[in-house]
Amino acid sequence: LSPLARRPIRDLPDELVSQIAAGEVVERPASVVRELVDNALDAGATQVTLRLAAGGVRLISVEDDGCGIAREELPLALRRHATSKIASLSDLESVATMGFRGEALAAIASVSELALVSRTPTQPSGFLLDARSGELRPAARATGTTVEVKELFFATPARRKFLKSDATELAHCIEAVRRHALARPDVGFAIWHEGRLVEQWRAAEPGQRWADVLGEEFMAQSVAVDWRSGPLRVTGRAGLPDFARSRADHQFAYVNGRYVRDKVLMHAARSAYEDVLHGQRQPVYALYVEIAPERVDVNVHPTKIEVRFRDSREVHQAVRHAVENALAAPRAALVAAQAL
Ligand code: ADP
Ligand code: MG
Repeated sequence: LSPLARRPIRDLPDELVSQIAAGEVVERPASVVRELVDNALDAGATQVTLRLAAGGVRLISVEDDGCGIAREELPLALRRHATSKIASLSDLESVATMGFRGEALAAIASVSELALVSRTPTQPSGFLLDARSGELRPAARATGTTVEVKELFFATPARRKFLKSDATELAHCIEAVRRHALARPDVGFAIWHEGRLVEQWRAAEPGQRWADVLGEEFMAQSVAVDWRSGPLRVTGRAGLPDFARSRADHQFAYVNGRYVRDKVLMHAARSAYEDVLHGQRQPVYALYVEIAPERVDVNVHPTKIEVRFRDSREVHQAVRHAVENALAAPRAALVAAQAL
């Protein structure tokens, strides 16, 4: 096709629009896991159970005990830009749920075989909606929702080719749940793979959840973080310098409960270790920033893994001080003990 050849402009078919959008949101099984667990938590689940096959490529099923979806709304749940979470621009500016774009289920359904089974507390039974055929029929289940995603990327072989081994994809799926687990100790998580229980975190106090996810050793070798600075609060747990690792794979940062991979936060945390950690050693931490929702924009990236702070210097300073302060406490105690 010559670049000069003029062709008529036309609307893309809906299915293709969803498949294009899916390219942004659904990179691999772990992306599906993240979106479905987000939805379960937004629905108020207290227990989330995942069942995977072939690293999530053959099957990802996420079952929750949340509020459920009413029978007549099941088709809407799959429609692009349909959401129960925001209704206006002002809602968007103070959004407290993980989701709000109304895109995930539509995107996932366009690149897999997806079925929803759900029951609300007031319904006498559950209902199943098959995304491909549109078939809607009664199905037994307790209150809550199960989303079943089969044969991911079956229709987009180019995507499928980029997938790694089942073991690698499974590891990414587990990591996605781990990120949620560290944010929500009050929720129980279980992950099954090929019929085998591979990971389980029972609902617990925050301290116990850190121990369960990051290890007892981490708890012994870390300090509590709790810092308030104007509109900002930073809490969590920071590993002592001796507990550092060679890789930055145990660094968890959250903004208003949402896991983020943010340069400002990571740089701030690392800089708090500047004087005590040498070379390429990487600290271990789980840090939770609470900030007024209007001071952070979460609608920067379709996967919401990046955020934009209105005043990133303020956030940087708060995180740095929070961690520095926490790390200084055991040293000060040591000096005091030696002085006795
Ligand atoms: P979003 O989360 O941005 O609203 P999704 O495509 O992920 O978009 O979900 C669409 C809608 O389907 C949600 O707004 C919600 O009302 C409903 N939904 C999805 N998953 C669940 C679930 N596990 N429990 C209850 N409702 C759900
Ligand atoms: Mg969602």
